[in-house]
Amino acid sequence: MLLSQEYHFRLYYQKKEDTISVLMDNNDPYPYSFEFFDEPKGANMRSLRELFSSKFAIEGNTSGLILAKFVPLDAKKPFTIKDVSFFKVKKIFFKVVVGNIWKTDYDENYVYDLPYAKKEKFLLYQGYDGNETHQGQNALDFSMPIGTEVLAAREGYVIELKQDSNTGCPEKKCVNQGNFIKIIHPDGTIAEYYHLKMNSSKVKFGDKVEKGQTIAVSGNTGWSSRPHLHFMCYLPKPKGKNISIKTLFRIDNGDKAKFLNPGNAYKRNY
Ligand SMILES: [Zn+2]
Repeated sequence: MLLSQEYHFRLYYQKKEDTISVLMDNNDPYPYSFEFFDEPKGANMRSLRELFSSKFAIEGNTSGLILAKFVPLDAKKPFTIKDVSFFKVKKIFFKVVVGNIWKTDYDENYVYDLPYAKKEKFLLYQGYDGNETHQGQNALDFSMPIGTEVLAAREGYVIELKQDSNTGCPEKKCVNQGNFIKIIHPDGTIAEYYHLKMNSSKVKFGDKVEKGQTIAVSGNTGWSSRPHLHFMCYLPKPKGKNISIKTLFRIDNGDKAKFLNPGNAYKRNY
């Protein structure tokens, strides 16, 4: 069963002799985190686990993850999984988030590419925990003219994007008008590229993106006081609680890995 065209996970049960297992497949290449509000129950069956785990993550490209297992109380009588509502894929039965929200480790030594083309040099006008709009946020703002090519700083998969806005203003009320692309990386971190130009996306939902691939062009949409690119990398957490992280970048000829500081212009010569 397909929840939507966006999610390719499948919840099902399998009967093998006297045992009924509740299983899940994830055919997407990245993890999901689930929180269920209900649990499967057996009729004339007992669970082989103390408790069904209502909160769990499933890694990408996984099949047959066992969520619960039941054996009959009396095998001579009919036995089945009782609560069929559990299998109805409706959002009210569970919450789902892209990424593993319980993962706390990531590749801290990974070196990102600057998110723009070779020979380009842009000023980082606001850095980590910047007092304009980045309070408590490990985000970077590169000043760049509208229409500058934005390149993926690291490879991954497109998990979210918006490109239908043509509105921007320097106030918080415009925060939801920003066009963006989010890419999940192999270590489970997610990068967001914000304020992109309307309808400029070169990628679509679910696409595999290579490091250095052009993904869109920059703009001035959303909560933005000047044309710029906002880049932030984070560990996914439940709504609004993402943990942003500082990341190393290759600068100049590509032989140096540095954390970027505001007030400096960084050239990409690789
Ligand atoms: Zn920003």
